[in-house]
Amino acid sequence: MHELTLLFGVADQVGRVVKENDIDHVDAVVLEVGEATAVVPEFMYDGYSVISDEYDFLRGSELIINVVKAVGRCRNCGKEYEIAPNEGKCPECGSFSKEIIAGQDFLIKEVRLYGDC
Ligand SMILES: [Zn+2]
Repeated sequence: MHELTLLFGVADQVGRVVKENDIDHVDAVVLEVGEATAVVPEFMYDGYSVISDEYDFLRGSELIINVVKAVGRCRNCGKEYEIAPNEGKCPECGSFSKEIIAGQDFLIKEVRLYGDC
């Protein structure tokens, strides 16, 4: 499953942050996932409960996903529009030809630590 591969990557990166900052455990990992990435948040949550158990620093932590809307710019008329509600079609001229200008990223936005401060 594609999502598990991504989650192992996330665990690696969080592991590095944990090491660099000399912390033992994180409480939440916040991801920013674009709609245009084809990542399914439900699978991410399911996978996370499995993966977080394999790393001491992630055990019992929470996954938070911020979904970023996919926005396209029409190659025909230049209109910028949200792709999902328009089913990929320009609401202005009806063209499917577009450049995706937002919603393609997958990144770790934040690692949260609760309490202890
Ligand atoms: Zn257009």
